[in-house]
Amino acid sequence: MRMEGREESENVEDRRGMRVPGGRGTGIGCVGLIAVLVISWLTGADPRQLLGLLGAVQQMSPQTQQVPAGQPRGDDPQAVFVSKVLKGTEDAWGQVFTREGQRYEKPILVLFDGRVESACGYTTAAVGPFYCPADRKVYLDLAFFRELAQRFGAPGDFAQAYVVAHEVGHHVQNLLGLSDRVTEMQQRARSQEQANALSVRLELQADCFAGVYGHFDQQYLEPGDVEEGLRAASAIGDDMIQKQSQGYTAPESWTHGSSAMRVRWLKQGLQSGDPASCDTFKAPQL
Ligand SMILES: [Zn+2]
Repeated sequence: MRMEGREESENVEDRRGMRVPGGRGTGIGCVGLIAVLVISWLTGADPRQLLGLLGAVQQMSPQTQQVPAGQPRGDDPQAVFVSKVLKGTEDAWGQVFTREGQRYEKPILVLFDGRVESACGYTTAAVGPFYCPADRKVYLDLAFFRELAQRFGAPGDFAQAYVVAHEVGHHVQNLLGLSDRVTEMQQRARSQEQANALSVRLELQADCFAGVYGHFDQQYLEPGDVEEGLRAASAIGDDMIQKQSQGYTAPESWTHGSSAMRVRWLKQGLQSGDPASCDTFKAPQL
């Protein structure tokens, strides 16, 4: 990406180097949230209550001094890059919402290292980047980009932009009330497979929304960038990860969709630039 001239966002909260209280992290990332949803589906409990319970437990943990979080410094290329991508998503979604007569409420992006506290609990970087609907913040440990390049074989700046834009996509879903609706549907689901299938549609829509951002910021793209993003989408497909980790793939346990699906929906958003074309819930075929 050629990001010279791209403004930075004012909504980055740099918590790197801050001590986070608490020992073991009780991760509640994309995966953790799904765990809560599954528990609530099994027990019939309101997931918001479960999340609240987690929050209450967290609050009982001892507090350490809080260093005020600031904006990333200008001599920090990777943080500046993320901040510019975030600004790109703000502009893109700002335009989309304005067109619909709505106001886009921007999310905060929190940079952390290792462990972080959010309204969704304590989380370790092991869960990967995540969005917490309860505080409307995206959480990102920049070390994930190294993992993306090395473990998943998906290097490149647009691969990173896709990751940020995917999490922002979850924020948009939250604003549109889609996340709540899916949670309700998951509570009514008759099986874990059905609940997983809903999660896949939600995740693929976030991929498509990431593509919508890419469409708006295409003047910053260079040849090869789109391929970088598609490679990343493919590398983090459930089938790919399952094959790597267990040697086979079990579609009924997918929560994010296959490589082919993720590529398809990212492409869909990139080409259309229209979130209305991202209705994975109506699509007969993913
Ligand atoms: Zn996601």
